[in-house]
Amino acid sequence: MIGINAGHTKSGAGYGAVGIIRESEHTRKVAAALKRHLELAGAAVKECTVDSAASQSAYLSKVVSMANGKELEWFVSIHFNAGGGRGVEVYTYGGRQYQDAVEVCENIAALGFKNRGVKAGTGLYVIRKTRAKSMLIEVCFVDTDDANRYLSVGADKIGQAIAAALIPHVVPVDPAGPVVVPPAQPEKQKYVKVIVPELNVRRSPSWASSAIAGTVRIREVFTVTDTITVGSTPMHRLKSSLYITAHPKYVETYEK
Ligand SMILES: [Zn+2]
Repeated sequence: MIGINAGHTKSGAGYGAVGIIRESEHTRKVAAALKRHLELAGAAVKECTVDSAASQSAYLSKVVSMANGKELEWFVSIHFNAGGGRGVEVYTYGGRQYQDAVEVCENIAALGFKNRGVKAGTGLYVIRKTRAKSMLIEVCFVDTDDANRYLSVGADKIGQAIAAALIPHVVPVDPAGPVVVPPAQPEKQKYVKVIVPELNVRRSPSWASSAIAGTVRIREVFTVTDTITVGSTPMHRLKSSLYITAHPKYVETYEK
C-alpha cells in the first residue's frame, strides 16, 4: 500500500506556494492522477491529504498520523518548488538513492524538466516522522517557465511518471493486473565532432567544390539532424542546414 499526500492545505494555515500556478491546487491534481495510475496497475492507495488545519504544525502532524495509521510500503508527498529555480527533485531520509526515487526524477525529467536529483530531506517533518519509507517530490517550480511546461504536460502525465517509477517496486493487489507504462524517454541527440585540423561544410548534399560553404576546425561540435549517403559516403545534415562528411576518418559521431 502506498500513502499519497497532496502537499499543503486548500486554504489558511499550511497553504502552498503561489506563482504562475498555485501549489495547493496542483499537488491535488498530481496526487489524484498518481492514485488513478497506481490503482489501474493494481496497487493499493491510502490518501493522506489534509485540506485544512489550525496551524502549519497541526497540518503536518495530521498528515503524519494518517500515514502512520496504516502499514505503508511508501509514503509519497507531492509538492511544487518555489524560489526561481528549474526542475524536479525528490527528498528522502538521508538522501537515500532508492531506485524508485531516482526513477521518479528520471521519469519527470523525461517530460521536459531538469533533473535536480534525489536529495537529503531529513529535516522535513513528513520525511522524518513517517514510519514508512518516504519521498517528497518537488515536481517543478511554480514561479518559472517550469510552471508553463507543467501546464502543457498536464498533471496526468506527471502522476503516470511517478506511478511508473513506483509500480515495479511495490506489491500489487492482483499480480495478474495491468502494468503502468513508463513515459517514453526523449530520443538522444546526435552530434558530430571534427577530428581533423580543417574540414569543409557544404550548403547542399553534394561533394562538388561548388557546394562548399566554408570550413570548420578541429574539436568543433555540431548537432546532426539527419544522416544520408551521397555517392557512397555518408554525410550529416547539421542543425544549421549545412552538410558535413560523416566519414569516421574526419569526424567522430556520437549520441548524448
Ligand atoms: Zn510544498
